[in-house]
Amino acid sequence: MSDKQGGEKQKIVIVGGGFGGVRAALQLAKESFAEITLVSDREDFYFYPRLYHTATGGSEHSAIIPLARLVKNKGIELKIARLESVDSAGHTIMLDDKSTILYDKLIIALGVITNYFGIPGLAENSYGIKSLHEVEAFKRHLHSQLIATHEPDLNYIIVGGGPTGIELAGDMGSYLRELMRRHHIKHRAVHIDLVEAMPHLMPRMPKYIGRKIERRLRKLGVKLYLNSKVEGASANELTVSGKPISSHTIVWTAGMANNPFFTPDNFTFSPRKKILVDEFLRAEGQKDIFVIGDNAETKNSGMAQTALHDADFVVHNLRFEREGRPKLAYRAKEPFYITPVGRRWASFVWKSMHFYGWAGWLLRDVADLRGFLELESIPAAAEQWAAEFDHEDLCPICGTS
Ligand SMILES: Cc1cc2nc3c(=O)[nH]c(=O)nc-3n(C[C@H](O)[C@H](O)[C@H](O)COP(=O)(O)OP(=O)(O)OC[C@H]3O[C@@H](n4cnc5c(N)ncnc54)[C@H](O)[C@@H]3O)c2cc1C
Repeated sequence: MSDKQGGEKQKIVIVGGGFGGVRAALQLAKESFAEITLVSDREDFYFYPRLYHTATGGSEHSAIIPLARLVKNKGIELKIARLESVDSAGHTIMLDDKSTILYDKLIIALGVITNYFGIPGLAENSYGIKSLHEVEAFKRHLHSQLIATHEPDLNYIIVGGGPTGIELAGDMGSYLRELMRRHHIKHRAVHIDLVEAMPHLMPRMPKYIGRKIERRLRKLGVKLYLNSKVEGASANELTVSGKPISSHTIVWTAGMANNPFFTPDNFTFSPRKKILVDEFLRAEGQKDIFVIGDNAETKNSGMAQTALHDADFVVHNLRFEREGRPKLAYRAKEPFYITPVGRRWASFVWKSMHFYGWAGWLLRDVADLRGFLELESIPAAAEQWAAEFDHEDLCPICGTS
């Protein structure tokens, strides 16, 4: 195969159908030199920033997009399979369906997994909201428990004072009240607890931002356990700094670990267990393997905005390389942080700028739309964005809406 200039096309394989991988594939699809294969182990793209909303009654369509739709008519070959190994000498990847794919350039963006830090009982007795499957299990539990006991749980405990835990805690109370109404359960007070090991919420940000969010959550009736370490979990309680809290509903949002595909045998780790990359985001010691997004050791790794930026950066340099122009060195992009806390209130932080309330909420909607526009055409992105306003939340047990 040859490109517009008659040169041989480059076979570029991207692994990971998330923010980094999809964006890289879509940007490369605009280049004539690339023959693109996108490999992912699941059929859907997850717009993670909206999953908390799906977990509290929002439409799943607002957070999930089929990969086949994203790559349709773009000249991208899509393969659903799990990456098992890379033979960098032979420029080949091996997949779990026993197939192999040859590459000239390989871009890896596998995302992270939940880390329970070995805390006894936690993996078995907690819920998560990192996949549709987890969100469905969580909602099934909320409904079935209300139907079975006709009263709310003694406590609904969310662990993790970062954005995901805060967003979920902010919405849980109103969702549970709505569920009681729907299942004709007499209104009762609900107890939402948010547990954080550090002395303030949003531990990676200046204290005053966490304090502002703390005040907002308290106003919504959320009880905060700060400086509180989770030590164990069972089916009936969570042990926090030596004290038990009764609950059948524990949601763990507090820990992430790098994708288990990476091992010290095949890649070099940084002290925080991300993959060391050079100034072009190539895995250390590798000429043709790029690691981007959550997997890479970059300043703002762990944000969707960084994964998108990394993808653009790598594609840019591949084009420059192809054109014989000098490549650019990586510069991290300063992300903005918008954290919704309950309805119509969000904190907005960008560099030294910060504000709170309605305006933050509106900006979050704008940021979501912008996120979809990075991946889809204007009509498709607008439709996806508007799905947030669909209320098709059926009870997974009795079908009540
Ligand atoms: C609940 C939640 C809320 C978030 N909210 C925000 C937010 O508001 N703003 C923000 O900027 N960031 C947010 N983030 C972080 C953001 O989603 C991540 O930084 C971003 O998804 C990273 O993109 P990625 O491409 O590196 O990985 P991902 O988007 O996680 O994509 C990884 C892909 O690789 C696939 N994969 C994994 N292993 C394999 C394998 N072995 N073979 C093949 N495919 C594989 C996965 O199925 C997935 O499709 C949030 C994250 C979570 C979990």
